Amino acid sequence: MTDSNQNSSCSQKNSLKEEIPSQKLLERHLYEKPSFRIPKTSLFFKITTEKVLVTATLELCQEENSPINSLADSFTNSNSITCSLTPSLTDSLMNSVSAESPGSLSPSFTGVPKSLFLHGKNLSLLEISINEKPLSPQNYTLTEEGLLLHNPQSSFTLCTTVELHPKENTHLEGLYSSGRAFLTQCEPQGFRRITFYLDRPDVMSSFFVEIQAPEKDFPVLLSNGNCLESENKEGLLTVKWEDPFLKPCYLFALVAGSFECLKKSYVTQSQRSVQLEAYVRPGQLLKASFALDSLEKAMRWDETRFGLEYDLHTYMIVATDDFNSGAMENKGLNVFNSLLVLANPQTATDENYFHIESVVAHEYFHNWSGNRVTLRDWFNLSLKEGLTVFRDQEFSMDTFSLLLYGSLTYKDSNPPSSLEDQGPNAHPVYPESGYSVDNFFTTTIYEKGAEIIRMVQTILGRPLFNEGLKMYFQKFDGQAVTIEDLIHTLFDSYVQNPQHHVFNLEQFKLWYSQYGTPQVTIETHYDKDKKLLKFVFTKSTNRNPRINQNSLW
Ligand SMILES: [Zn+2]
Repeated sequence: MTDSNQNSSCSQKNSLKEEIPSQKLLERHLYEKPSFRIPKTSLFFKITTEKVLVTATLELCQEENSPINSLADSFTNSNSITCSLTPSLTDSLMNSVSAESPGSLSPSFTGVPKSLFLHGKNLSLLEISINEKPLSPQNYTLTEEGLLLHNPQSSFTLCTTVELHPKENTHLEGLYSSGRAFLTQCEPQGFRRITFYLDRPDVMSSFFVEIQAPEKDFPVLLSNGNCLESENKEGLLTVKWEDPFLKPCYLFALVAGSFECLKKSYVTQSQRSVQLEAYVRPGQLLKASFALDSLEKAMRWDETRFGLEYDLHTYMIVATDDFNSGAMENKGLNVFNSLLVLANPQTATDENYFHIESVVAHEYFHNWSGNRVTLRDWFNLSLKEGLTVFRDQEFSMDTFSLLLYGSLTYKDSNPPSSLEDQGPNAHPVYPESGYSVDNFFTTTIYEKGAEIIRMVQTILGRPLFNEGLKMYFQKFDGQAVTIEDLIHTLFDSYVQNPQHHVFNLEQFKLWYSQYGTPQVTIETHYDKDKKLLKFVFTKSTNRNPRINQNSLW
């Protein structure tokens, strides 16, 4: 995701502006794997101008060695209890354990029904069934945070229908209206405003989406993946989409409205034909051509530099005037703030063109760094953002001359991430705790995260770095992983080389856990008699009292 308020291609969303919610502190080390997975997600959207009905059919199956069993063990072993959970006790347990990471965590005791928690916010539940049988109210509990299913089977199909009112959704997360169009924003936790789900990045699913709407109001109906079919019956348009690649729900997208489309075809290095499409408000078609040219350039660069090719039949960019973030990398269907995609050749400056190109490239590069290989939890945000900012910087440096790149990106001697890193909001690139995942979208996570990746490239050299990154995408394709997985893979062959036996990887990784910026002072002493010049380097902190003195410097 990219922020619209920054000239840089990426930055914070609502960082540190939000009030601290009353929920408890989220801690990275408390991560537990989801107890259930959702191999297949089918969504049916029935859209009218006033409301949207969403029917979600989820195939759920329990993970082997899920935390249900470990939690059950820990309770039964320590307390030797066998009891029944009342709904209120279940709720309080869920509130204590399910705030973010757990998501699906289900308390379970010997002889007591298990339960499964699905996130859901501001949803009006109309129908609910399991394995096509309507569920009676005593089998589930609705809370402000979601839906608690009592006594789920190890494998079942859940079907829910909820009613949404996009025009009343002022959060600009979930499904909301922009002018007369409807569109979505799900990163980081907007999908729970669309349907009940395990809204966490390590639950990856294949998505099938059917959208139905009156064509006169919504002539364009888009979602992720490949378009399977489109038909119009008596003014009612139905379009079906299928995304064959596993993805977390934060990458889901839907766009419904009236748009004009600029098309261009692209042939990948393996000779596959891909359709590039830019959807804009009527009358703005000519302003989108530079964005499509930029997209083509980015696709070619990623093939040449890292051997990474696009995977779907179509790549769509939608420009809208009402978008909370700058741009969002939803799989195959990027949504952009118009400012970052449209350029009027009569008035646009070099700087405008530069930012359009780098943001279009940034969102495209996410197709691999973020989408095909995604993050385990939001503490690992820099896994995709730091790496993708680095990739778009490399692209810009390769595409523009270094001099031009420098003049367009130069602001002052302190880049934004450095200013944040020296102030009261300083925090590690790999945070250990936080009150809200929204607060992780900072310049430190994005830009300082990119600088750490650049250090890795400097240490390894470009050829070894390129090989390491290719290995990372190969090894973790279709998985939700961590910053450790990335760093260890990049350094894998380097640390095995006996020539590099002095390199300490654990020491290097401190760059992720230590906040603050080192101050390096260099003194020179020249001995005229001996004709010897001596340099003395001194490292110190920037006087931030929160910096741990026992770390890198
Ligand atoms: Zn991004």
